[in-house]
Amino acid sequence: MATGKINVSVDNIFPLIKKFLYSDHEIFLRELISNATDATLKLKHLSSIGEAKVEYGNPIIEIKVDKEGKKLHIIDQGLGMTEEEIKKYINEVAFSGAEEFLDKYKDAGKEAGIIGHFGLGFYSAFMVADKVEIITKSFKDEPAVHWSCDGSPEFSLKESDKKERGTEIILHIAEDSTEFLEEGRISELLKKYNKFMPIPIKFGTKTETLPKPEGAKEEDPAPTKKVDNIINNPNPAWTKQPADLKDEDYKSFYRELYPMQFEEPLFHIHLNVDYPFNLTGILYFPKLTNDLSVQKDRIQLYQNQVFVTDNVEGIVPEFLTMLRGVIDSPDIPLNVSRSYLQADGAVKKISSYITRKVADKLNSLFKNNREEFEAKWNDIKIVIEYGMLSEEKFFEKADKFALYPTVDGKFYTFDEMKETLKENQTDKDDKLVILYASDKEAQHSYIEAAKAKGYEVLLMDSPIISHLMQKLETTKENLSFARVDADHLDNLIKKEDTQISKLSDEEKERLKTNLEEVITDKGYTIQMEAMDSDASPFIITEPEFMRRMKEMQQTGGGGMFGMGNMPEMYNLIVNTNHELIGEILNTKTAKKRERLISQSLDLARLSKGLLKGEELTNFIKRSYEMVK
Ligand code: ADP
Ligand code: MG
Repeated sequence: MATGKINVSVDNIFPLIKKFLYSDHEIFLRELISNATDATLKLKHLSSIGEAKVEYGNPIIEIKVDKEGKKLHIIDQGLGMTEEEIKKYINEVAFSGAEEFLDKYKDAGKEAGIIGHFGLGFYSAFMVADKVEIITKSFKDEPAVHWSCDGSPEFSLKESDKKERGTEIILHIAEDSTEFLEEGRISELLKKYNKFMPIPIKFGTKTETLPKPEGAKEEDPAPTKKVDNIINNPNPAWTKQPADLKDEDYKSFYRELYPMQFEEPLFHIHLNVDYPFNLTGILYFPKLTNDLSVQKDRIQLYQNQVFVTDNVEGIVPEFLTMLRGVIDSPDIPLNVSRSYLQADGAVKKISSYITRKVADKLNSLFKNNREEFEAKWNDIKIVIEYGMLSEEKFFEKADKFALYPTVDGKFYTFDEMKETLKENQTDKDDKLVILYASDKEAQHSYIEAAKAKGYEVLLMDSPIISHLMQKLETTKENLSFARVDADHLDNLIKKEDTQISKLSDEEKERLKTNLEEVITDKGYTIQMEAMDSDASPFIITEPEFMRRMKEMQQTGGGGMFGMGNMPEMYNLIVNTNHELIGEILNTKTAKKRERLISQSLDLARLSKGLLKGEELTNFIKRSYEMVK
């Protein structure tokens, strides 16, 4: 038996390891299983190139909980270590790695983002164990060794009688970490970190039901047998070639990733690149609602099939974090903070590669099956619109396939829309005015009025659409968006031919005074307009600019500061050519005039959805009186 001292300057490194990493103790299991996997894959490689003359077979990794003995075992059938290798890789290399880590992050260690994703490796075992043993037999013809260390820099090393090739790590779980002796907890960790690791991982056994033998009676129980409980899928879909996968395979992998998701994904994007960086993965477009609140099922980041995190912020462009799926890359530095990550060259390339792939996929869907693309538009538009707003490169590509639906269910691309509308909706200043509604029901009467003039009305109802319109107006030339209730139509799309007013200036003045006597609400600005005699007499409009600024501020940035809390401002457009207006003017009694005005105003408010509560009740009462 040999004893020795691990060569470190810090007297007792283990309390430090514990302290630094306390938030993420659970990763020790991932680290040890990664080592077991590496050892197995290395052996596979050596045997394939003829350097290890061994029967590789079908090695597995086994995890065993010994609750009574307070031990956790991680057993592999990999290449093992000789005494020399233990000294070199465990005593020297692994430990200097731990020391180096602590040195580097002594001050920064508490900064969020560092803790967790690092390569402390083997020594992370000491976060949960106060004694660790390694019993290992190399594939080389050398005696097995037994290393043990109780948490101080002292270790012992002796010969062992282990016969089978491979390594067993035994953790003597510390008093404060007994949670890791619970099967449920280990099982949870295996599912989280190891679900797709490349070597089968056994955790206990399970009972499998076999088919009944021939001639068995109805009431006979089906025979069962105990089989290894393999917790992982060593060949997840993203590691395969796209050509070898069918649509159904992608869907079933989605269910494997998110067992609690019952909605099918809309489509997937297989990522596969090995130069200038290495990245594989599958992204899914889920059905998204307008509710952008934090979602639970997020994109998962792996490194060589080992789960790292489901916080991919900084790696995937923000607008794509709404997607789901897997990204696997050994080229993403994990032991650095997020802000550093965003400045990293490789990460930037990865991010723009992903953006490009997503844009290309959307483009090919649009080109190859427009009908289906249109049918899915409502579910994917938020991602696309958000992307157009936040990534210039994406905007350029998406401009070809982003759709603009009309209230009648037609879909235009931007160019198609421009072509179709330009004839009828270009105003006298040569500006194309695109009319839209945000709510088909609430703005019904305005939509109808626009259609009556032969105008198209788009349906723009995503939460960030006002930002996108703003962007389109500044990127494209001679273009403006106007909601159908922003003004009366002849003002929204000004043409040369002005209507002649039936009223004289004197009459208009008198009418205005009449109206102002009755309409005392300061929220309304009265505006006289000579319109078609069959257009509504009173129309309430909400100026586009103010409304949009308010909306933009409510959905984050972009709008003018302080606009979010401004009260609503309305214009009351009075159609001076309407018969009813003439009647108001000619009415002799003030009482009747007042009734005509307030009833008309209420009708206009009703049509804009502004009549509510007590006012609505009064309006209804008054109307009943009138029909009597
Ligand atoms: P890393 O895995 O990053 O090299 P670790 O601290 O996790 O660092 O492991 C240190 C070294 O110890 C490994 O590189 C490997 O040589 C050796 N080692 C650890 N676990 C095993 C194992 N189960 N089988 C064989 N060698 C191992
Ligand atoms: Mg390791």
